[in-house]
Formats: sequence, C-alpha cells, structure tokens
Amino acid sequence: MRLIIYLILIFLLYRIAKAFLFPKKNPIHQKKEPILHGEEAVLDPICQSYFPKAEALSVRNGNELTYFCSEECREKFLKK
Ligand SMILES: [Zn+2]
Repeated sequence: MRLIIYLILIFLLYRIAKAFLFPKKNPIHQKKEPILHGEEAVLDPICQSYFPKAEALSVRNGNELTYFCSEECREKFLKK
C-alpha cells in the first residue's frame, strides 16, 4: 500500500519538475510574444493580437494612431 503512495508522489513530482524545467517549449506561448525579432509590435484593438508595425494598417483617431492587422479589423473599428 505504501509503495503505491510513493509511486503517485514520484509521478506528481515528475510532472511538476517537467512543467518548471520546460515551460517555454509550448509553441502557443511563443506566438503571443509581443516583441517580434526587434521590430516594434503593435496591438490590434479588434482582434487583440500583436503584429509588426511595418505590416500594420493605421487609422488616425484624433491625435492617436491606431493600428490594425487587416482591412477587415479596420472596417470593424470604423463602424463602431
Ligand atoms: Zn485584427
């Protein structure tokens, strides 16, 4: 009976250790990185995603420039 408890504990410790040692291996987390290889990243307020400023479409909103990832998001913003 004691052996089973030990095995469960070892398994749990292994899972915890694995999560601590390799937290950045998940490619989904890397996609959300706001800094893209030294390029300035901007946030699209419509779809909440980061992308390089060089690829952005912009709209002047008073004194501020707002950036969008695509024409579609820009249209949505303008219709609000
Ligand atoms: Zn967008």
